[in-house]
Amino acid sequence: MCIFCKIVNSELPSNLVKENDDFMAFHDLNPKAPIHILVIPKQHVDSFNEVTPQTMAGMTSFIQEIAEIVGIKESGYRVITNVGDNGGQEVKHLHWHVLGGAKLAWGHFADAESSKFL
Ligand code: 5GP
Ligand code: ZN
Repeated sequence: MCIFCKIVNSELPSNLVKENDDFMAFHDLNPKAPIHILVIPKQHVDSFNEVTPQTMAGMTSFIQEIAEIVGIKESGYRVITNVGDNGGQEVKHLHWHVLGGAKLAWGHFADAESSKFL
């Protein structure tokens, strides 16, 4: 069972923000912004490649709710899902990073030099 499924099953602890029947939001263990929440479907989905439009619909409203609860809805935030090796996905259970609480740099690409791949 993957680590996020263990969190869903309470086999691993998490710093919970909110959950409902289908989704769960908790603080990232190693935050990359003042506010860094992970949002997951409770049912295991490997990545964005496998998610259904129905799950995405529910997840969209849930993420909007989370942004409001943690107080970043108006100040702004970033929503990211990493997919596969090139995307840098470490945990193979679909999750959305919701990052905010400060002006975010476009730092994920700081090491990318377009001349090398364009
Ligand atoms: P990925 O690199 O797969 O997009 O993101 C995985 C995220 O999960 C990372 O930001 C990492 O800090 C976080 N993470 C890994 N293990 C745990 C854990 O056991 N609990 C929590 N709350 N976050 C975790
Ligand atoms: Zn899982």
